Amino acid sequence: MPVPISALPVHAPMTQFAVCCGELVVGGEPLSRLAARVGQTPFYAYDRALIQARVAELRALLPGTVRLHYAMKANPMPALLSWMVGLVDGVDVASAGELKVALEAGASPSSISFAGPGKREAELRQAVAANVLISIESFREVPLLQAMARELGWPARVLVRVNPDFELKHSGLKMGGGARQFGVDVEQVPALLADIGRAGLGFEGFHLYAGSQSLRAQAIAEALQKSYELALRLAAKAPGPIRVVNLGGGLGIPYFPGERHLELAPIGGTLAHLAQRAQTEFPGAALVLELGRYLVGEAGVYVARVIDRKVSRGKVFLVTDGGLHHHLAASGNFGQVLRKNYPVAIGNLMDATARETASVVGPSCSPLDVLADHMNLAVAQPGDLVVVFQSGAYGASASPQNFLAHPACVEVLV
Ligand SMILES: *Cc1c(COP(=O)(O)O)cnc(C)c1O
Repeated sequence: MPVPISALPVHAPMTQFAVCCGELVVGGEPLSRLAARVGQTPFYAYDRALIQARVAELRALLPGTVRLHYAMKANPMPALLSWMVGLVDGVDVASAGELKVALEAGASPSSISFAGPGKREAELRQAVAANVLISIESFREVPLLQAMARELGWPARVLVRVNPDFELKHSGLKMGGGARQFGVDVEQVPALLADIGRAGLGFEGFHLYAGSQSLRAQAIAEALQKSYELALRLAAKAPGPIRVVNLGGGLGIPYFPGERHLELAPIGGTLAHLAQRAQTEFPGAALVLELGRYLVGEAGVYVARVIDRKVSRGKVFLVTDGGLHHHLAASGNFGQVLRKNYPVAIGNLMDATARETASVVGPSCSPLDVLADHMNLAVAQPGDLVVVFQSGAYGASASPQNFLAHPACVEVLV
């Protein structure tokens, strides 16, 4: 029996953007005017008011003592990063290149932390010189940091990144538990702490990151709780007082049909409880949450223009000037096993009643260059604007822009 249409999973509604006169409104402007102002398609647009509202919503829910950090690998656009620096309590960088951009965006060194499984010596030296907090992820880093600290004449500020003995359940990307390239296995952490003590590094605390892109509040709350307990257990072996306990994050956003927005209340409840305990168990320490996509992902759209409308053996293809070279994730080639559609709409025909099943493809000579496969869309013609929602994180910077030498995309903060 065919599945009734109403039973098929659908995308979560993209109500963060208003619609006015049939057009999607981004940054207060109807899409066609915004496209004219940008001067080209394809482009990414990030709505600063939506980012601000998202941070405010989190702040209202989190205990006041929990620090909110932005993991800038989600979206390193310099203007956006400057905006974030004014909204959050710290920036997490994953390379010396990101460190440079974070400093230029006005982040204060004391609020920057640097993590990554393969830090080159030059990067470690830059981080020590900048006096940012370095997450140690390997025994190798201890003598290097010791030598650099001696050379520069001040102690390197360090956290220990722990590979925990649990993972974030139901997460899109597991980054802790089992055998991982990230951090140091919890069993080996006591030996690492002893090394750090002998090397005289400026030990400040622990960094845990169990996983990413989870839409299950209970699973996230449980991982935060376990991370806290683990840090508490390890604190007995610490070579100095704990000032920072970075509990990670992993808060996801809905990308695919059937996915729903995360419920924040259980996470807020767990953190309130942990913040209360921390007053006596980690006196003087800060609890940190590090979030990337949850802060910026829903505030961004990718906009491409229809170049051609083709019908092949009854199937409609909208060929656009954008595609996988700008938006690898929406094409399904950034970590998806079975390709699923991001939410997509024709942004200048939001009220259209004439609808059809169509596929949106890019200009590359590759069958992988698909932005939407078999979606119900307004009937679009060349010149119309295709919008890919949920595109504020892991978009431009996570895409192979040089592939096939098409023009680069533009990013605007509006
Ligand atoms: C990537 C990363 C993040 C951000 O992940 P999101 O899914 O974007 O929230 C946070 N912390 C660490 C250590 C990361 O590697």
